[in-house]
Amino acid sequence: MLQHLSQYLFLLFTVGSLLIPFSRICAEKFIVATIHPASAILKEIAGSRITVHTLIRPGNSHHTFDPTPSDMLKMKRSMGIFFISRELDGWAAKNHISKHFEMIQMLPKTYLLELADSDHHHGHNLDPHFWMDPLTVKAILPGLTGALCSIDLSGCRIYSANATRFSKKLLNLDAEIKKKLKTSYGKKFFIYHSSLRYFFKRYGLRETGVLEPVTGSEPTPRHIAKLILLSKKQKVQAILTEELYPIRSAKMLSEQTGLSIVMVDPAGGRNGRFKYEEILFYNADQIAKAVK
Ligand SMILES: [Zn+2]
Repeated sequence: MLQHLSQYLFLLFTVGSLLIPFSRICAEKFIVATIHPASAILKEIAGSRITVHTLIRPGNSHHTFDPTPSDMLKMKRSMGIFFISRELDGWAAKNHISKHFEMIQMLPKTYLLELADSDHHHGHNLDPHFWMDPLTVKAILPGLTGALCSIDLSGCRIYSANATRFSKKLLNLDAEIKKKLKTSYGKKFFIYHSSLRYFFKRYGLRETGVLEPVTGSEPTPRHIAKLILLSKKQKVQAILTEELYPIRSAKMLSEQTGLSIVMVDPAGGRNGRFKYEEILFYNADQIAKAVK
């Protein structure tokens, strides 16, 4: 009996000592995504298996973001860093030891959109805002699942199952947005920052003019005058903008044209726009409301 007890204690001790470092590893299992939409997509695949941290806080532009020392530390400690594209948030691929994954590179070429004017946007040829189209996101799932499997092989089956489930959800989401935007098909819009081109292409909407001619700089009065002229020739529905951009020029354009200003939010991360579908539905609803 006593011998059994000591054997039992020995076993308990051995199992216990194995469990402690294991739980420590589990507690530190996390990946980092630069922007909220990337993290919302990754969370769908990661489930409860691995934590996803977001670096750029809501209300901050992905164009002007500078990582703090604590952000750098978080990146170093993570199991992997997911960023959009080398040109947009390529700082995430520098100065660290963790694995990094450029999401735009995981997309089949046919899904990618070239920028209307490469010099005028992020300074490169590819439009980085691919997450605004659910079917493009569906096309990135094999790449993301592969990336997660490469950093956590034993979780691979979970990631694959989650990706399959999310993939079905994306098809439904696409169908529902199509329904919401049925009467918006072919309609024209002005937009402050050209962040919805993937969304527009998928749902047959048209970007007639962009207020911000160069990323990060406000439009000149001459540029506004051009848009006013354009609105006289084309039936534009509304001026779309985001909360984080200066409102002055949009107001000026609105006063001169009578067009209403409608908020969109491709970044999400606040006000009930956390999950991927919540971000997409919000934008679809705002645009549907803007159409007369
Ligand atoms: Zn952008």
